[in-house]
Amino acid sequence: MRAPHKRAAYDNGIPPPPPERTAALATLNMADCITTPAALAAAAHLPPPLPGYVPAAAAGFPLKVPRSFVARMAPGDPRDPLLRQVLPTVAELASVPGFGPDPVGERAAARSPGLLQKYRGRALLITTAACAVHCRYCFRRAFPYAEQSAGTARLRAALAAIARDESLEEIILSGGDPLSLSNTRLTALSNSLSAIAHVRRLRVHTRTPVVLPSRIDDGFIAWLQGLKLPTVLVLHANHPNEINSEVRAACARLRATGVTLLNQSVLLKGVNDEVPALAELSRRLFAAGVLPYYIHALDPVSGAAHFAVGDRRARRLLGDLAAQLPGYLVPRLVREIEGAPAKVTLAPRLSVPRAGSHGTSTGGC
Ligand code: SF4
Repeated sequence: MRAPHKRAAYDNGIPPPPPERTAALATLNMADCITTPAALAAAAHLPPPLPGYVPAAAAGFPLKVPRSFVARMAPGDPRDPLLRQVLPTVAELASVPGFGPDPVGERAAARSPGLLQKYRGRALLITTAACAVHCRYCFRRAFPYAEQSAGTARLRAALAAIARDESLEEIILSGGDPLSLSNTRLTALSNSLSAIAHVRRLRVHTRTPVVLPSRIDDGFIAWLQGLKLPTVLVLHANHPNEINSEVRAACARLRATGVTLLNQSVLLKGVNDEVPALAELSRRLFAAGVLPYYIHALDPVSGAAHFAVGDRRARRLLGDLAAQLPGYLVPRLVREIEGAPAKVTLAPRLSVPRAGSHGTSTGGC
């Protein structure tokens, strides 16, 4: 197994923000986040040692979780679905065939350092290595950020590559989490992208509004309001307990700017692999103004095999979910396959009702 990359706090190299902004961001990340097992045990009301925790699991991909996310865990429950997403455990040390450091072939998708292209018409900028939370199942947990973040010189080269390729009509800001960047840096980046005539849409992939909703500050809202490109914000929530009143309030502010809000989840064993949890997640997302878009089959990254749900069971779960909810609340179960021209949809699949049965018509408005 390749050694996982150790993430720096803010290391993307985009021209640095003013010192006062740096201080504010440092405060946001350090004071608001728990980074030690002892602090996590105390905040989660669990007696140390935390169940399954081993320092070796956190060695390359450290424990990091915002306090506000821990506050949504059931106190004293070692099997809490939010806790399982962030707790480094001994299970991560298992070497499992088929699981590796580059599960979807991103090294091969790099067009220039920090710029990945997997699908026609879209490209993805790795804006930063930093995230507000470290999700143990993250498919980029071993990503070589030191070589592949769009730092100052690299960002210029990445923007030049985007400007040269008129087929690129959508740019996706990813990471890490792009909301780890200051509003000043986001503005500089979006201004550069808006100046490229053939770029028509901006997409931002972020888990921060869910795990650290206080990041949705006045400056960030002003950034969204000032964007010249139609923008899609793709959030990342996995369990209904993640959606509390603070997250709803953050989503309301985001919606008021006119951006499109979608959610993508990852199907995770022991976290959200039950129909009631998935159904309630969809309901709560919709109540917050967010449409469930994708639920990803786990990407086979080293250290995350214990989260895998088999395809048969995953399809059955989505079928059962579709039997309970209207179609717009049923996310597509997808898998990313290296080299494929699009994500592969595993479920829901078209099924033809038997003669005489009462199938629901999908025609008309
Ligand atoms: S927030 Fe996203 S990029 Fe960051 S660790 Fe979690 S899944 Fe990975």
